[in-house]
Amino acid sequence: SDNQHESKESSVNREDMYGGDYSENYQFIKQIGSGGFGCVQLAYGLIDNKLVVTKFVKKSKVYSDSWIVTEDGRRLPNEIYLLNRIQHPFIVNMIEFYENDSYFQLVMEKHGFGMDLFEFIEKTNGVPEPLAANISKQLVDAVDYLHSNGILHRDIKDENVVLDDRFHAKLIDFGSATYISDKPFKAFCGTFEYCSPEVLRGNPYRGPELEVWAIGVTIYVLVFGRNPFSGIEEILKSALEFPDSASSDLLNLLNGMMNRCVEDRFSVCDALKSKWLNQTVFLDNYDFYDVCDLERSSVEFQNSRYILDDGPVVSLTTSTPYRKSSVPAKRSLD
Ligand code: ADP
Ligand code: MG
Ligand code: MG
Repeated sequence: SDNQHESKESSVNREDMYGGDYSENYQFIKQIGSGGFGCVQLAYGLIDNKLVVTKFVKKSKVYSDSWIVTEDGRRLPNEIYLLNRIQHPFIVNMIEFYENDSYFQLVMEKHGFGMDLFEFIEKTNGVPEPLAANISKQLVDAVDYLHSNGILHRDIKDENVVLDDRFHAKLIDFGSATYISDKPFKAFCGTFEYCSPEVLRGNPYRGPELEVWAIGVTIYVLVFGRNPFSGIEEILKSALEFPDSASSDLLNLLNGMMNRCVEDRFSVCDALKSKWLNQTVFLDNYDFYDVCDLERSSVEFQNSRYILDDGPVVSLTTSTPYRKSSVPAKRSLD
């Protein structure tokens, strides 16, 4: 069997991952993503019968400058410390966290069915501008909230935004997040495709101006289905090109957000005031399953029924109720 081929080391690792009080409250359902810092799983809450998403953060992989000592003397990764203090409709909600010798287990609300913007963009191959504006506005609102609270995300990109089937977006992955400081940062810690030219050149950076650039790249990819630049050389040149179909309001916004001159680049506030982000959007015109060309029934089935290890099939729905008042784009006045 597979088990016989598993090395002793990996079974020890499993023990490390699930060890501690976490396992008394949650049961593994399936893997939904993995990255350098551990892995992300769908899990079932044994106490309240809810589906959650758990991110396993391996202590030995958290950079030495990404830890914070809390008021009560507890040592926590920035990711957990910051998420714990944040509350915003467009940022993922952390429910609780656990800790053992090797791992932190960060329990989050499950948003949607695990589709991030990267997958959404792959499926849609370019999103109509009004719909893209609605999704983008949520991201800009989330980042504006972070900056107002002195926090930088530092890894803004399509993969780190999750979407539900009502186009409600949430920013996730605070693994690179930190407080804005008086001392500029030297090390870039995101993904190079989303990095601004001055930071690629190695200049120290304050942070907000880098995030505006990264949001610009994300919006570009969302609307056009491809990266604005294909490689470091092109980012350094920063010559933006747009398909003919692009609206002039979008050009104004993206030229502002991806201005190679840092002093002239849009701030988050400038972006929030832009015409493109504030355009009228009739969300009812868009059906998620049409936009992504997905089979509704397959998603609903995946989403709602799981067979647990000890037998029974459970049917659950955990989608966050959609609050109409929190839809950021303006509706028409008529
Ligand atoms: P990493 O730091 O390894 O990139 P992330 O926190 O970005 O880990 O999570 C990896 C992936 O898991 C995301 O890109 C997303 O697809 C999925 N994911 C993470 N958190 C959630 C969540 N709360 N709800 C739904 N999907 C999630
Ligand atoms: Mg990520
Ligand atoms: Mg990360």
